[in-house]
Amino acid sequence: MASSTKYIFITGGVTSSLGKGIIAASLAKLLQSRGFSVTIQKFDPYLNIDPGTLNPYEHGECYVTEDGAETDLDLGHYERFLNSSTSQDNNVTTGRIYNNVITKERKGEYLGKTVQVIPHITDEIKRNFFKLGEDGKYDVVITEIGGCVGDIESLPFIEAVRQAKWDIGSNNSLVIHLTLIPYLAAAKELKTKPTQHSVKQLLEAGIQPDILVCRTEYHLPQEVKKKLALFCNVQLNCVIEAMDAETIYDVPLLMKKEKLDERVMAKLKLSSKSNTDLEQWKDFLGRLKNPTQEVTIGLVGKYVSLPDAYKSIIEAFIHAGAASECKVHLKLISSEELHPETVAKKLEELDGIVVAPGFGERGLEGKIETVKYARENNIPFFGICLGMQVAVIEFARNVLGHEKANSTEMDPETPFPFIALMEEQKNLEQMGGTMRLGSYPCELKRGSKSAIAYGKLKIQERHRHRYEFNNQYLSEIEEAGMIAAGINPETKLVEIVEIKNHPWFVGAQFHPEYKSTVLNPHPLFVKFITATIDNKKIK
Ligand code: GLN
Repeated sequence: MASSTKYIFITGGVTSSLGKGIIAASLAKLLQSRGFSVTIQKFDPYLNIDPGTLNPYEHGECYVTEDGAETDLDLGHYERFLNSSTSQDNNVTTGRIYNNVITKERKGEYLGKTVQVIPHITDEIKRNFFKLGEDGKYDVVITEIGGCVGDIESLPFIEAVRQAKWDIGSNNSLVIHLTLIPYLAAAKELKTKPTQHSVKQLLEAGIQPDILVCRTEYHLPQEVKKKLALFCNVQLNCVIEAMDAETIYDVPLLMKKEKLDERVMAKLKLSSKSNTDLEQWKDFLGRLKNPTQEVTIGLVGKYVSLPDAYKSIIEAFIHAGAASECKVHLKLISSEELHPETVAKKLEELDGIVVAPGFGERGLEGKIETVKYARENNIPFFGICLGMQVAVIEFARNVLGHEKANSTEMDPETPFPFIALMEEQKNLEQMGGTMRLGSYPCELKRGSKSAIAYGKLKIQERHRHRYEFNNQYLSEIEEAGMIAAGINPETKLVEIVEIKNHPWFVGAQFHPEYKSTVLNPHPLFVKFITATIDNKKIK
């Protein structure tokens, strides 16, 4: 454990979904803006080794890091706010902790001991708490504990926080508890009791929170703050109000106003390394909030009832829209509602169309109709991962005339497997951990729309898929006008397709949305927005 690294733990109480990830990312941003190097990690109390196998309906998007870890979507917020990469080490689940302990037990590392939750599981949790701080790269490591205090499954994490705090001392660690102050309309009152109870639960576990961050729809009057301070045993100036914000990107500034960063620094005996620099952040907010134009983009996919399933895409459009001072109205459209007879009616208002990533056959035909509509009507089109694969299948069917063209994911018997598994993948049977994951190089074709967007020819992008474009058909599609604009230089896999005679038709096998941040909007999203703005003008 590097002695100079400070550790902040963020717990949550009263309800889930209070936005611990955003508070963690906002605090990290403020500390970063004062010159500290900061990273954030998330500990999730479920038994899956990682969220890769979770249904997006239940858990939202699975976020992929540079090193190919499938992680919780909060890591996306961390990267978007901090503009720096996270890795496998930034997301640890109960499943991973138990897996590590049981693997060690099988190897005989516990030498005849009874292996128990305490101390073996808690020791393994603590080892992971401190791992990122070990090489001295970070001044501050923020650890977000998923779930709510009082949940049975969070108990070992909470106990490990108690021990970690005891191990490293109070000037080196602190606990921030995020809670909800509900407003009872009938009584016209903000209620502190749920917070008191949730702090009691922390105290029962031996943890005194140092700072309370209180989510609220209304300003907290001084007497409410005093009551919280007295009954929860925290200093009055450490009761921080977190009002609902217009956008998550306002939260760092709101937290600055509430002096969250100053309280943290005082408690950890940290002094600013530089003057706070949030100029670029404020500039982004200025452009986000004062758009000079607007466009409507349709995101066609299958998980439309839970927008969290497309979190990074939604955020990437916010970044790219702000870059052009353009308000992006993103309409989520279920591909199952789209049929040859309805597609024109349902998509006619759109200035641009995205076909989303996804798995499985459901809604595929609707996606193919969508691509056909965008291609034939010159609507700017952006296919992401499965969206790129569908673009290829549509082209094979409707331009090349191979009616039964498909991906072997959807139709293993297709006579025209334009999208298929690579030879070396065919023997893999396990579902978890069998995808092409993480960052891979790609070389762009000079003069292509992608090369123009990136302004360079060599890029690295993140992947999360099993199936690939089948190179057997490369010359056939290229002769007909769909070009491979991006190729993996090592494996020759096609990473980007474009249609030459179209205002903007780009399909990417990778997920560009994972790399879009506030300070670095993704070039493909930015250029797609520009194309939709141009399309709107000529409509
Ligand atoms: N289902 C497709 C594959 O596995 C695409 C995956 C995705 O869109 N992320 O290749």
